[in-house]
Amino acid sequence: MSADPNTLLYLEFLQKSYYANNDFLLDHSIKKTASQVIETIRNQGLRVNNDVEELFQKLDEQVKLPTPYEDPISYFIMTNLAREIEQSIVELRFRLPVRPLLGTIPSGRLNAMTILVRRTNEFIVLFERQLFGFAYEMSKIIAQVIPFEGVIGQNIKFAISKEKLSQIEKNLSRHPEIENQMREVVIAYLMKGNPNIIEPTLVSWPSYPLAGILTNSAELFILGHEYGHILCGHFDQSKLVQSFIGEEQVVQVVPQWNQEHEADMKGLELMIHAQQRNQTSVVTSFWGADFFFSCMDILERGISFVETGNEGDRRLNDHPPTALRREVIRQGLMDSLPKDIGEPAINLGMFLESIMEMLFKGMCPYLMQLNKMGYQLADRWKIKKISNCSATVGCNSQY
Ligand SMILES: [Zn+2]
Repeated sequence: MSADPNTLLYLEFLQKSYYANNDFLLDHSIKKTASQVIETIRNQGLRVNNDVEELFQKLDEQVKLPTPYEDPISYFIMTNLAREIEQSIVELRFRLPVRPLLGTIPSGRLNAMTILVRRTNEFIVLFERQLFGFAYEMSKIIAQVIPFEGVIGQNIKFAISKEKLSQIEKNLSRHPEIENQMREVVIAYLMKGNPNIIEPTLVSWPSYPLAGILTNSAELFILGHEYGHILCGHFDQSKLVQSFIGEEQVVQVVPQWNQEHEADMKGLELMIHAQQRNQTSVVTSFWGADFFFSCMDILERGISFVETGNEGDRRLNDHPPTALRREVIRQGLMDSLPKDIGEPAINLGMFLESIMEMLFKGMCPYLMQLNKMGYQLADRWKIKKISNCSATVGCNSQY
């Protein structure tokens, strides 16, 4: 990744400053090595494919972490995502000035952010530490609900209609365990800061590959958005203001909604291009971006419920409202693709949004109850002095 050791030192410094005041122990005490993950799967009576075991062993042995604060599984996922996005950048003939360094922090935003390190003129893309685990758990829940109708070639066929939605509603009332699982994942993330402290959802075919495509598309879109800020030159054009990352003072790019929409569209283009290379259609790539916005929407409303008893009082960042970003990418997709491709993609996104809404409604009374009983959110959601924009310039004099 990054060539300059000062960029690495700055990443370590930022992580250290975050963990000095936040839930470092929780993030680390549950951290499992790859071999422990294999053991857990075996204990649940499931067979572990040899390839998977080999891959996990490599994770333990070979992944060289950039800092002692990094977690090997997140780092493995991030570097694979970056490889895909950077290949799209080359194939689409965009010019990337410098490859960013990747890292995680408990930022308390279901997102990533990009920092320009002043001294080295290099970038760091920081993901929320539990983003990957949360996205995967949520996608497994959704994949069990979505009406799957078979495979045509490499493409998955869905049945989406108003009638199907009411069928799903009936199915959910017959299978309360699905709604319960989603509630537990969201509440574990909100109250303990970690969605993976509960038993993971185990899914089989076809939900398993569906969940994989959904998570992968969402994660590629999130990283694509950050590369989008770099590619679109947002660090060059913006006015800078003082801000904070944890306790660390930084200079921040003034949040401009048009830049966020521009980065969303660039991220979408990079993600869809990467997924097409992996034989995934535009329809089943696009829903990942839509899914990401729905997840963010649910978390924001959940936080608001627990903090204030109302659902609309709190947003996780200064990006444009989630619903607006979702609307802009849907419109952007319609404008840039033939109707017979754009329309089914947007319809699937809207269908997914309705399912997420259905599931969220079921958990609202529990969230309000947490507020009434005076429960506190996990530390990461309570950080006030946080950099709110994803494009940020590091200005600590040491780095
Ligand atoms: Zn952004």
